[in-house]
Amino acid sequence: MFEGLESHDKDPRKAIQVGEVPTPELAPDEVYLAVMASSVNFNTVWTSIFEPLPTFGFLSRLGRESAWGARHDLDHHVIGSDASGVVLSVGSAVRNWKPGDRVAVHCNYVDDQDPGAHDDSMLAANQRIWGFETNFGGLADLSVVKANQLMPKPSHLTWEESAVNALCGSTAYRMLVSRNAAQMKQGDVVLIWGATGGLGGYAVQLVLNGGGVPVGVVSSPAKAELLNKMGVEAVIDRRAEGYKFWSDEHTQDESEWRRFGRRVRDLAGFDPDIVFEHPGRSTMGASVFTCKRGGTVVTCAATSGYMVEYDNRHLWMKLKRILSSHFANYQEAWEMNRLIDSGAIHPILSQTFELENVGEAAHQVHGNQHEGKLGVLCLASEPGLGITDPAKRERIGEDKITQFRQVSDG
Ligand code: NDP
Repeated sequence: MFEGLESHDKDPRKAIQVGEVPTPELAPDEVYLAVMASSVNFNTVWTSIFEPLPTFGFLSRLGRESAWGARHDLDHHVIGSDASGVVLSVGSAVRNWKPGDRVAVHCNYVDDQDPGAHDDSMLAANQRIWGFETNFGGLADLSVVKANQLMPKPSHLTWEESAVNALCGSTAYRMLVSRNAAQMKQGDVVLIWGATGGLGGYAVQLVLNGGGVPVGVVSSPAKAELLNKMGVEAVIDRRAEGYKFWSDEHTQDESEWRRFGRRVRDLAGFDPDIVFEHPGRSTMGASVFTCKRGGTVVTCAATSGYMVEYDNRHLWMKLKRILSSHFANYQEAWEMNRLIDSGAIHPILSQTFELENVGEAAHQVHGNQHEGKLGVLCLASEPGLGITDPAKRERIGEDKITQFRQVSDG
């Protein structure tokens, strides 16, 4: 479909189609979910532009694993790795959930009969991301979800506000808070790339909530202003300040790393204890350089290119470390959901789309034209539905819950 085109010219609107497909049979450990809302993640973009790999290959591999897995190997991929909704019916092995339960869904898809899944389930040999490496994801009216992906829906939030948090929020939680990655402590300076993006918007809140000092990097005055409103004092507009870490395709400019590092130190008073890294090739050299002696660069992605390059001398001579992280186990996702349910962390929903327009939403994320998260209405007939505890919402504060929408409303 996109043969010969560069990444940025591949248009998700061409690949994503909305239509009717058959309903798969339900396995004993699964539930049918009436999806009220879902969200666009960057993996929606990756799937729809077939990069770095076509996701149909993942479905074929899952199809070879078991009889239930074979259901997934189809000529269509129902994508989407976030959802909120209502449990419709449950398989015979489901114990903790029943029809009618209002839930949010996280995307860690693991087979609990794999021994590797019983310490940290992200280490399971067959760990997958639901709706990306499996079929029957959340951008649909009906979805098939394992019982161990379910979490209670936050009672003060709408369907669409409840649907945008699990993937990006839980990833940021594991990267920063969990013992499985950077284990941020009070007072830590944390440099956050893309600080108003999907991951960054939750990372900023986790740092503030945990007593750290965020330094947020963004690329426009509007995003910088949003960070200020969220309580971030140290903000860098990378476009306005014109950092050019790569002088050409093959060469990085150490003087630009120094200029950036000085700026971070001037703003925060110290070099960062933790660098929250995900742009990859564009920024990894600067991230490793800027991180403090003995500090941690924690990475979960490489949006701008996965063949990263950094100067190893700056890593080993200053005893820095690079930690990898990927989504979150059930417990980590549950803890993040609890923070959202308690009102300590807020959804970063900026706009809501109809399911028919999900291609347009993915196109905007692909082009970095969005802030925070883009929600998608599935069975919810209009935005604003699904709140069951309005008093709690009032106590937590409409302003905080809708902060990202106020920016996109201008
Ligand atoms: P978003 O597009 O919502 O946000 C990313 C932000 O990064 C952008 O807003 C942009 O902010 C910044 N950015 C993009 N390109 C560059 C660049 N070249 N240099 C500096 N900053 C850049 O995406 P998400 O936060 O949802 O996801 C980010 C990446 O993380 C994606 O590749 C995604 O696939 C991956 N991911 C991985 C997960 C995992 O479990 N491993 C989970 C979630 C996401 P600005 O322009 O304002 O600087």
